Amino acid sequence: MDAFEPARGPTAVADALTRSGAFLECVFSCPSCGLAGTSLSRPGALEAKACLACGEPVVLTVLDRFPRR
Ligand SMILES: [Zn+2]
Repeated sequence: MDAFEPARGPTAVADALTRSGAFLECVFSCPSCGLAGTSLSRPGALEAKACLACGEPVVLTVLDRFPRR
């Protein structure tokens, strides 16, 4: 039965948030220290994103919804 879709914890929650438009999933990378990863951000907060490690501005790429496979 493929009608049953198991919950996938944080991913399912993030998916719901991005679908609602409240949050966008972003890939960030820091040119200063090399830290990189993904995060969820409110659209209005994207321009003020700073590196968690060194505090320098990070480069953000917004993912346009999650790819569905
Ligand atoms: Zn950094």
